[in-house]
Amino acid sequence: MDISRAYAQQLDKNDPLAEYRRRFYIAGDDDLIYMDGNSLGRLPLETLGRVNDVVQEQWGKALIRSWGRGWFDASVNVGDKIAGLVGASAGEVAVSDSTTVNLYKLAMSALALRPGRTGIVSDEFNFPSDHYVLQGINAQLGGRHTIQVLRSADGLTIPTEDVCAAIDENTALVTLSHVVFKSGYLYDAAAITAHAHRMGALVLWDLSHSAGSVPMALDAWEVDFAVGCTYKYLNGGPGAPAFLFVRKDLQSQALSPIWGWFGDAKPFAFDLEYAPAPDIRRFICGTSSILSLLALEAGVDLLAEVGMQRLRDKSIALTQYMIDLVEARLARYGFSVGTPRQPERRGSHVSIRHPDGYRINRALIDEMNVLPDFREPDNLRLGLAPIYTTFGEVWECVERLRVVMEEQRYLKYDAARATVT
Ligand SMILES: *Cc1c(COP(=O)(O)O)cnc(C)c1O
Repeated sequence: MDISRAYAQQLDKNDPLAEYRRRFYIAGDDDLIYMDGNSLGRLPLETLGRVNDVVQEQWGKALIRSWGRGWFDASVNVGDKIAGLVGASAGEVAVSDSTTVNLYKLAMSALALRPGRTGIVSDEFNFPSDHYVLQGINAQLGGRHTIQVLRSADGLTIPTEDVCAAIDENTALVTLSHVVFKSGYLYDAAAITAHAHRMGALVLWDLSHSAGSVPMALDAWEVDFAVGCTYKYLNGGPGAPAFLFVRKDLQSQALSPIWGWFGDAKPFAFDLEYAPAPDIRRFICGTSSILSLLALEAGVDLLAEVGMQRLRDKSIALTQYMIDLVEARLARYGFSVGTPRQPERRGSHVSIRHPDGYRINRALIDEMNVLPDFREPDNLRLGLAPIYTTFGEVWECVERLRVVMEEQRYLKYDAARATVT
């Protein structure tokens, strides 16, 4: 492999998506190597104008009239745009609340649709918040359910066959992260969903790390339920509302456990008896966070303009380049790649593992102008957002890591963990 900087520059020159980096606010800091777009996506320039318009014109001038000029339908309208990115249809996605709250709503809906079954299948790679929600649900439902947490043999992957083997006639729900947050392993959602259905179980996918990075076909895969985050690859901004997906033909049967006025068929009739909306709106509970919802729309529009397949092609090229460089230049310092090698089995971040990972991460942030993140116990997570990450940044990241190791700069940092890593 060619490890020269010139080669990285060549890759950038040939990158068909190169122009899109200019659509983001880079703040004059071209030296910053941003490797955390999988935790907080960059700010699209379009969002600046959008937020200003929403605050000044829609809120400031139009005031309450704006509810009738787009605000009321914004959750479903932005949802329709996200549907286009995940292979779903209009009317199947709504934007509301956080991923955690949406997971609660949909997991409760799913379990209510399988009252005779008590099995829930998840894995050790799922996001802790997802586990906490499932544990809380089980406690609230009287502890009748059994949550099976699949373990991985290699710490990176769990084979499809192992997931399928865990699903039986007693399984009510299978819920996993499509791309897992540590290793970046990408599950075969189509095969697992099909098998779950053969066994009569429902599936709920957490798409937080795959929305905006991996093309999906939720409708073709016949996925029942999904949730996902919008401040990662969708570049919606910190705390932007999450999305939820419910397959069209389940919408009339599934009920949200939170009956709120925005999920009612006629919120402005102010009836005292709840009558669920006939469509996806029944999964919304209260007033939308309009400012962040409309800020998110600008990020979603930008991804739609590029198209998921082109984003995926570049994402694979970036992650492969990172893996190759790490192996060629950093293996001798004790790093190992903690992400699957087959491109079709990984998302858009690369984890590299090192026993001193935490201190190395501190050195990168404090003195190298590199922003990755750290995930216990030894993962340095490098998020590569195909819409704005360059091959040159990947090269620089590895080069600065080499300097930290060669000069042992990490040794002066304490291994005691900070609150936010
Ligand atoms: C980021 C992330 C979340 C975030 O949940 P919030 O409720 O929005 O804080 C949930 N699940 C996964 C898999 C994530 O990566």
